Amino acid sequence: MTTWNEYVEEEGSLPEWPYPVRYEKENLVTADVLIVGGGVAGCHAAISAAREGASVVLTESGHAKRGGSGGAGVDHWHGAVTNPCSNVTPEEYTQAVFDSAHGYTSGIARYIICKEGWDTLQECEEMGVQIRDVHDEFKGADFRDDETKLMFAYDYQNRHVVRIWGYNIKPCLYQEMKRLGVQIYNRVLVTSLLTEGGRAGARVVGATGINSRTGEFYIFRSKATVVATGGSRLRLFSFAPEVTAAGSMGNMNGSGGGHAIGWNAGAEFVLMEQTVPGRLNGFGYAPYSMGNASNTYHGAPIVDANGKEVPYVDFQDRELATVQERFLPASGQKFQLGIGIGLHYYLDQYKLNDLTRNLADRIRKGEFTLPLYTDLTRLPELERRVLFGMMVGNEGKTRIPIYDTFTKAGFDPDKDMLQVPVMPPQSYQHSNFWTGVPMPHLRSLAGGGFLVDWDLRTSLEGLYAAGGTPLFGSGCHGESHTTGRYAGRKAAAYARTAAAADVDRAQVDAEKAHAYKPIRQDKHGVGWKELNYAIARVMQDYCGAYKNELTLNAGIRLLNELRENEAATARASNPHELGRLLECFSLMTVGEMVMRASLARKCSSLYLDFYRLDFPDMDPPQWERLLPMRQVGDEVTVRELPLDFHLRPPYAPTYAENYQLHASRATANKGR
Ligand SMILES: Cc1cc2nc3c(=O)[nH]c(=O)nc-3n(C[C@H](O)[C@H](O)[C@H](O)COP(=O)(O)OP(=O)(O)OC[C@H]3O[C@@H](n4cnc5c(N)ncnc54)[C@H](O)[C@@H]3O)c2cc1C
Repeated sequence: MTTWNEYVEEEGSLPEWPYPVRYEKENLVTADVLIVGGGVAGCHAAISAAREGASVVLTESGHAKRGGSGGAGVDHWHGAVTNPCSNVTPEEYTQAVFDSAHGYTSGIARYIICKEGWDTLQECEEMGVQIRDVHDEFKGADFRDDETKLMFAYDYQNRHVVRIWGYNIKPCLYQEMKRLGVQIYNRVLVTSLLTEGGRAGARVVGATGINSRTGEFYIFRSKATVVATGGSRLRLFSFAPEVTAAGSMGNMNGSGGGHAIGWNAGAEFVLMEQTVPGRLNGFGYAPYSMGNASNTYHGAPIVDANGKEVPYVDFQDRELATVQERFLPASGQKFQLGIGIGLHYYLDQYKLNDLTRNLADRIRKGEFTLPLYTDLTRLPELERRVLFGMMVGNEGKTRIPIYDTFTKAGFDPDKDMLQVPVMPPQSYQHSNFWTGVPMPHLRSLAGGGFLVDWDLRTSLEGLYAAGGTPLFGSGCHGESHTTGRYAGRKAAAYARTAAAADVDRAQVDAEKAHAYKPIRQDKHGVGWKELNYAIARVMQDYCGAYKNELTLNAGIRLLNELRENEAATARASNPHELGRLLECFSLMTVGEMVMRASLARKCSSLYLDFYRLDFPDMDPPQWERLLPMRQVGDEVTVRELPLDFHLRPPYAPTYAENYQLHASRATANKGR
């Protein structure tokens, strides 16, 4: 393969743009169900809707075969509580997640994940993903069930997180979509939702998009639409695509596009004020490359420079004597949740065993000498092999960069140790050491997204949400598949009875003019990277860990000034740059949504990791609620909703009843 430098050296010039450029050319595509975003959630939504008999179109700004956060693989699948070895019920797991987040999560999404996670995983198995130890490599291991050959992570007693060989999961989904006749539009970035009569708040009847290679314009006309565009972890509060690992723990294509199009169409959102410290936004080391004891590496022994081992403790800080105990609930605990996106740990009852919680102090006092190391040689052989082998060989973005590279370079887990980064002592408070020194002002969106009902329908007719975000309060890999599968099914059911609707030409024309503006700008206009840096800086400075009314209003004003000045004259010199600029426009919208939601919550909250300097009261009872907000004309309206709204009228009082009423699990969905 020729590298960029070799090409330029050989040719003596930069390459021409390799695709035909056809700005303004319109393509009209019609389907029952439109899926926006081809990550695992979107692909599974497409498969599910197609199996229900719907005609389905999927549009993805990257390439659906490997795109998205899960495109490079997955090693452990959360929430599969109905697997035959699990000792946890869907009700117990949902309640545990809900209570551990102090109610700031989606009980609806969590229950769906629990009810359908195992079925969805088996569906992936049918598509070609290995989910069992079929080659008996780990026979006799504590984490393996010899009858089903399933293998588990974190809590070996309760067995609800399944270890899988998921390096090929995206290509398998892709093949299945093709087999089912899903029309896939790769490299098409959706820029707006189309609504009946062009009115905000009305039924969604399609979307518009731009091809980031040809610049062509797409008009999608659909009876139902599922938004599954993921989050914007790497580009809202920080932006450093060239920095090591910046693109690793997330997806650079994630720009909050789904949030932005939903907001502009008048949908209701919740929890946009919830952000988390941006430990995963790329200023650390390549994910899983350095010594650590978290997530995939849970249970790995950490030693100091003198070979002294850092103890593991349970939720009550009791030291654990053996390796086996690291993977078992402590006395007084029914089960442990494990580490997952969108999971919170405000209840000791479900907390994971971890490295001693006062490691930072003990390093300061000289009890442990830096550098630290992960010493896998101290693990029993099967534990060592499942970790650096099966898991690092299948986890997202680790198979080639870490497992393959390290192994070829001579790393041998039977003999060698992995060094932990050398950092200021306070950085060792979290056992995920490869994320590097924490930078408190670099935040990431947490649980915020579309408010949905028991059908995963948003507040807009015809519009459904799925995946980690933009579905509020959802999370990880398996959870994204599962909510995608459910939303696809519900969208198809709606499309069966809904009338076809025409798109509004004036709305299309307005969006087209907006989308192509950057190609008509003077060459002195800023480019997409400058604009993205500026957005991230505004977010860090005015909406970081600490904020008040003045900073938030100033932040909104600055975002608007960016929109009216730099963004209004920003220039794209090819379709790729055009796509990136349009993503920046989405980021500005999402930034404003976060600031507006932050203004609406006039208190501080430990559970939302949300600190208002002008309202320091921590979690006063009158603010323990969701604050759904939406845009109506130039105004933003906010209302209040109890945290357990999903179990109050008009819904039934139990999870089981609501699921029974809404899930409509058609038998057709079991394969076609
Ligand atoms: C390195 C890594 C390791 C991980 N390991 C695990 C694990 O072991 N277990 C686990 O449970 N989870 C894991 N996760 C998390 C998991 O992969 C994600 O939660 C999950 O993949 C999210 O899927 P999604 O489809 O909801 O969103 P995404 O994967 O973000 O997909 C959204 C898609 O939408 C596209 N898109 C965005 N905007 C637009 C637009 N406007 N128009 C068209 N398309 C658009 C994007 O290009 C993207 O492909 C890991 C994540 C990473 C990055």
